[in-house]
Amino acid sequence: MNCYECAQSGRASEAVAVCRLCGAAVCSDHVRTEAMQLSGAAQPGKMGHDQPARRLTCPVCRSAEESA
Ligand SMILES: [Zn+2]
Ligand SMILES: [Zn+2]
Repeated sequence: MNCYECAQSGRASEAVAVCRLCGAAVCSDHVRTEAMQLSGAAQPGKMGHDQPARRLTCPVCRSAEESA
């Protein structure tokens, strides 16, 4: 699958990820990675389990979220 963002500008790049919001395939240049803390993961007295989850989105969904 090719990157959707690149396809919009007439280019073809191999996609490395899929936006979890809109489902668009994105290349390494266009993917937006975000560390997401899982809600409810924090438990008092429980150590070493605070590694954030990963969230991959496209630039469009990312900027839409930032403007919200
Ligand atoms: Zn791209
Ligand atoms: Zn998206």
